[in-house]
Amino acid sequence: MNKKKILILGSGFGGTYTLRHMIRSLKRNENPDITMISDTNFALFSPLLHEAAMGSIEPRHIAYPIRKLQGRSRFNFVQASVDKIDLGGRKVITTRGTFDYDYLVPALGSFPDMSTLKHREKFVFTLKTLLDAILIRNHIIDVFERASMEKDQKRQQELLTFVVAGGGYTGVQLVAELRDFVRVSLVKFYRSINPKNIRIMLVEASNKIMSELNPKLGAYSMKHLMNTGVEVRLNSRVTSSMENHIELNEEEIVPANTLLWVAGGIINPRIAEMDIDTDSIGRVFVDNNLEVNGFPGVYGVGDCANFENPKTHQPMPPRAHTAVRQAKIVAHNILADIRGKSKKPYHYSQDAEIVSLGSSKAIFRYHGLRLYGLPARLLWLSAYSTLTPGRYNRMRIIGDWVWSKIFGRDITYLPMPEQK
Ligand SMILES: Cc1cc2nc3c(=O)[nH]c(=O)nc-3n(C[C@H](O)[C@H](O)[C@H](O)COP(=O)(O)OP(=O)(O)OC[C@H]3O[C@@H](n4cnc5c(N)ncnc54)[C@H](O)[C@@H]3O)c2cc1C
Repeated sequence: MNKKKILILGSGFGGTYTLRHMIRSLKRNENPDITMISDTNFALFSPLLHEAAMGSIEPRHIAYPIRKLQGRSRFNFVQASVDKIDLGGRKVITTRGTFDYDYLVPALGSFPDMSTLKHREKFVFTLKTLLDAILIRNHIIDVFERASMEKDQKRQQELLTFVVAGGGYTGVQLVAELRDFVRVSLVKFYRSINPKNIRIMLVEASNKIMSELNPKLGAYSMKHLMNTGVEVRLNSRVTSSMENHIELNEEEIVPANTLLWVAGGIINPRIAEMDIDTDSIGRVFVDNNLEVNGFPGVYGVGDCANFENPKTHQPMPPRAHTAVRQAKIVAHNILADIRGKSKKPYHYSQDAEIVSLGSSKAIFRYHGLRLYGLPARLLWLSAYSTLTPGRYNRMRIIGDWVWSKIFGRDITYLPMPEQK
């Protein structure tokens, strides 16, 4: 095999699993020039971000250093930010130089889309990065500290009102975890806080939460949230955030000091800026082999790829397990092309649905089998810890879950430069 240059952009699920599968499939005598470029030198396990933000997992444990991946002598890693992808010139311009390629996997993921929010106050947070998780936890602890000194009950309630915008699976997982953190873990350490002043609200624009989910699982989740005191506002949008309040549907004012925004995403602008056809949120269209239409050797994977679900004719929703499965096909197809062998198509299968609902409940479906509550949560924990790359991180995450159940969640405020 001659020295073909393979560039993988991004160290998320799509990028990391493409690299892993590729390295594992290489024969001894095969030595392509594989380089991963990413702005973080770790793979972030995003499905556990809400648990890191709510103190049950130490944030560092959901970040796996790329340089520790097995087979590290067979690839290069460059920590740099991608500035431009020039498909015509077959090169990628980064903050640490320009790289040319024979094969490209631009797996730069997506970002939270806040374009519908008119004003954005300091207390609005997104949940995408490790820093986001740390800032959210700090902020929640900070409002508790401030509320504990507040004699005015109205002001205390305002400080202790938490609004989550977006009732997709990320918003539901986040609000359920937030509720457990705030109502079960935190409040008992603040004697001067009246628990009745805590208000947690989930705002969803459509007429149901997690609309793509099996209806029975959706109904169970809705009931669980309402039984645990979460106010669910359907057919509603957060339209603005102003000092000490948020605005719903451009009319209703809700006094609040925390808005967690998980309502929709847009594709990384570096992808959307490529001179190529993209869909309305910037995803590139890929064929059955996950190759970008009209650009042989360029592959789409994960959140950046628009792959049509043959059943619904809709693009597949952004999911970690989708990115992981697509990555296997991308790795295979690049190596097959170099070896002169035939490529494999990607077959979409949505075998299972699983959503966590706080520290001791979840919902799960596999074909006709449905599980609710603790058994589903145990399955969630084992499924997600298995997907985490690296034994060290996996053991630390499992340890964190066990210790937080026994000793409680972490409630320390970590001073950050901008929060001091
Ligand atoms: C809070 C949260 C919870 C989630 N929960 C679940 C869940 O329970 N189940 C599930 O299936 N999915 C979940 N997801 C979705 C899942 O994480 C994504 O679908 C998956 O991460 C997509 O993988 P990706 O490789 O396409 O993108 P990402 O994982 O986002 O990776 C993008 C990579 O590109 C890097 N990057 C970005 N811009 C640049 C640049 N300019 N230069 C260099 N590098 C760059 C980033 O640092 C990152 O390494 C969740 C996502 C979030 C944010």
